[in-house]
Amino acid sequence: MSVVTRFAPSPTGALHIGSARTALFNWLYARGRGGKFLLRIEDTDKGRSTDENREAILDGLTWLGLDWDGAPSSQAANADRHAAVANTLLANGHAYKCFSTQEEIEAFREKARAEKISTLFRSPWRDVAEADHPDAPYVIRIKAPREGQTTLHDEVQGDVTWSNDQLDDMILLRSDGTPVYMLAVVVDDHDMGVTHVIRGDDHLANAFRQNLIYEAMGWDKPTLAHIPLIFGADGKKLSKRHGATGAAEYQALGYPAAGMRNYLTRLGWSHGDDEFFSDAQARDWFDLGGIGKSPARFDFKKLENICGQHIAVADDAALLQELQDFLAATGAAPLTETQNDGMLTAMYCLKERAKTFPELIDKAHFVLTQRPVEIEEKAASHLTDVSRGILRELTPQLQNASWSRDILEGIVASTAEAHDMKLGKLAGPLRAALAGRAVSPSMFDMMLVLGQDETIARLQDASR
Ligand code: GLU
Repeated sequence: MSVVTRFAPSPTGALHIGSARTALFNWLYARGRGGKFLLRIEDTDKGRSTDENREAILDGLTWLGLDWDGAPSSQAANADRHAAVANTLLANGHAYKCFSTQEEIEAFREKARAEKISTLFRSPWRDVAEADHPDAPYVIRIKAPREGQTTLHDEVQGDVTWSNDQLDDMILLRSDGTPVYMLAVVVDDHDMGVTHVIRGDDHLANAFRQNLIYEAMGWDKPTLAHIPLIFGADGKKLSKRHGATGAAEYQALGYPAAGMRNYLTRLGWSHGDDEFFSDAQARDWFDLGGIGKSPARFDFKKLENICGQHIAVADDAALLQELQDFLAATGAAPLTETQNDGMLTAMYCLKERAKTFPELIDKAHFVLTQRPVEIEEKAASHLTDVSRGILRELTPQLQNASWSRDILEGIVASTAEAHDMKLGKLAGPLRAALAGRAVSPSMFDMMLVLGQDETIARLQDASR
């Protein structure tokens, strides 16, 4: 059996980080098994669904690198098919027409409340023959079992049992002929050939209602996996109070997509003690058995740590491309060609300890800036008369040097020694001259990246 998973967001908001994780789990499960990952936009709530939200969701998935198979489908576009299934159930006796009015239903509930019995509506039309039906508006309701229990197996939750008397004869088709959401989900999942439904455990109760439709239609049921929600560090449902909640916010904060994927995969799923892994490993390892039963806690420190590791091992050109995408997505000015070249040369030393793109850009300041280098106050304090003198001394030596790390280290070390100084003492003035900052990549990396002419020119600027 080939695996088909789906992500079925409602475009009533942007892509929440929890939904992004749901999409990721579905994507990993399908991709690791040569299966398909489908995208269905559940846009039946006309009042709250917007095109902007739909676009934001697609953008978020694209940023995260979660590619889907085929075109995204629209649930609303399938309304006729949903209605047809409701009519099939009516024809085969698994559903019935209910003519109860809103007032009658309300009266039923009030009476039930007064008698302290279940307020689930029990329609008097369930067993009334067609011949006795009035010519009046009706809804189509499913005939749910009233006795016994239903047990559903869930790959995360295990066997979950519900008492059938908790299920009402839910409406399938409203009196205006529009299908309800619960019916649409089942019909679409069936028609799309979905084999595995992996979604938030806030949908677990729905699974029992949806199960009625599968049973009544005699359709194969998908494997279920209801995953716990994501909590904040305090053990409460992740919300704005904890920090960013939208996928787009993480993009804007400059987290690399590979790091996000790794962190979100690990959030609520485990493979032994592995914390840092590649996409290929995640695809190979991901399974439903590794999903935890209790809510995972979002840990920003861990996210940063994982992101830093991914930046460190990323391919330089790919990292530069992602940095350019980051700048574009945040509306920042694009890099010039010279800056791009500089970034590419410098990348090996920039990516060592950067956890986000803003950090990478900050470290790259020395290569992004131009002469005359503006010198920050903190850095300027390193440019004393004495240190300026030493920079002046360095210049002719550097002019005659061949430009390799060993040689440069030798020159700076012997100059420091000649002045009875530790090598580190020269880092301050050199950083100030080359980057205009007190914090920067190492002086030798900067010299190597900037090259001989530019290095000497910056030292001369600063030592004047
Ligand atoms: N549209 C639902 C949601 O956004 C998902 C339904 C499902 O996965 O079955 O929560």
